Amino acid sequence: MEGIRVSSNYEDVIIGLEVHIQLTNLKTKLFCSCNADYRGAEPNSHNCPICLGLPGSLPVINERAIEFATRLALALDSKINDSMFFFRKNYFYVDLPKGFQISQYNKAGGRAFADRGNITVKINGKKKEIRLNRIHLEEDPARLVHKGSIATSPYTLVDYNRSGVCLIEIVSEPVIRSPEEAREFLKQLKSIVQYTRISNLDLTGAARVDANISIKGHERSEVKNISSFKEVERALKWEIQRQRNLLKRGKKLTQETRHWDDKRRITISLRMKEFEEDYRYFPEQDLVPIAIDKDFIQQVKDKLPEMPNERAIRLQRDYNLSEFDSENLVLDKDIADFYEDGVNSDPSFGPNEYKQFCNWLMNDILRHLNEQNKTITETKVQPKLVVDLINNINEGKITTKIAKTFISEMMNGSSISKIIEKKGKKRISNEEIIEGNCKEVIKENPKIVEDCRKNPKAIEALIGRVMGKTKGQADPEITRRIMFKMLKQIGIII
Ligand SMILES: [Zn+2]
Repeated sequence: MEGIRVSSNYEDVIIGLEVHIQLTNLKTKLFCSCNADYRGAEPNSHNCPICLGLPGSLPVINERAIEFATRLALALDSKINDSMFFFRKNYFYVDLPKGFQISQYNKAGGRAFADRGNITVKINGKKKEIRLNRIHLEEDPARLVHKGSIATSPYTLVDYNRSGVCLIEIVSEPVIRSPEEAREFLKQLKSIVQYTRISNLDLTGAARVDANISIKGHERSEVKNISSFKEVERALKWEIQRQRNLLKRGKKLTQETRHWDDKRRITISLRMKEFEEDYRYFPEQDLVPIAIDKDFIQQVKDKLPEMPNERAIRLQRDYNLSEFDSENLVLDKDIADFYEDGVNSDPSFGPNEYKQFCNWLMNDILRHLNEQNKTITETKVQPKLVVDLINNINEGKITTKIAKTFISEMMNGSSISKIIEKKGKKRISNEEIIEGNCKEVIKENPKIVEDCRKNPKAIEALIGRVMGKTKGQADPEITRRIMFKMLKQIGIII
């Protein structure tokens, strides 16, 4: 980290997060019917007088956005306000053609979309509830495109396609105590958002975070627009260390707004912190107030799927999984769905197979997905293939070691029988064949055989040679038994 020593002592650190999530599953923008999918579109092609902020244009609220916000508020245990209206947040910037952003405000008679709520995280095996302050709806400004880094770019391009896209802002209380806690908070939030089906946070720019960071007793800084969840932990660590270094040199910290430069991996000062009164919030008179009744909330609630924390408890019960396994499994809804589809498709499956399936999914398959930077739905693997793989192992047709070499072909949708046929990697359990191979290996490796007299572990090297000769097909248990027997017969081991 550019020569800066990173302290792991966070006892006096206070962090509050403001997470902006684009409702990417909404087809249209928050106040007009323009296509909200700006990704890959011709710049400045999804626009109308409303999202361009032309004088005289009249915004109209997107009803689906209210439904989506209700889903998230319910999932986060927030209290939805029964009436609310929008505010204008005034500031001038090229990404904001109107000169104000339509947002919500919980002061001056206004209310947020919902208040309070919480997200449970696990830190060092202990559960902690991180309280939320509020969630609210607002429009996204246009997108600024810089050549290279924001600090060195010779010009800025503006794409108004993003202008007016619906954002939901989730504001935590300043109760997060370390960068790791922030990472866990965002991990759980991402999972909950996925379950509510309001957004795909894997899309670039779908989630942005502002972080308020301070060291107890000192002024805070706000790091703006950290452009992905992954960057947050890194940005927090850097900023905390910057503040500590200043304090160490006797400097005073000032309240300021900083920008996270993810190319150089540092925060840079943008401006002295603006205060709320600078925004001259006032009610947006072009939009009618919104009333949300209990029936509407109940209807949305009835359609909500089981949330990850409830699902983890059920998976432990239904499939005899450990708390650790079930909590990891439910984090990604698609992975958890894949798991349940798989284990339920074979009636002969019981607790052993449930655990086996979980292990294949969370180890080999997840590793493959991470390496390929893909989600499970972007591959051709089907739950049935993992079921077949497990059955082939349990019936003794292939060894676990061989099965591991099947993963990448299985992820491309190949059936297990086809892979076995192609690779010819059936398990060899014929004792005569294994004996023949053991005999050859003993003959060819007198030095290792001699080592076995003093070092019983040397037998592993001999077994390894048999595996090599049989291209990994010899059954390891039978090979071990036969190798022991033969070494005994020639008096190497007693
Ligand atoms: Zn528009």
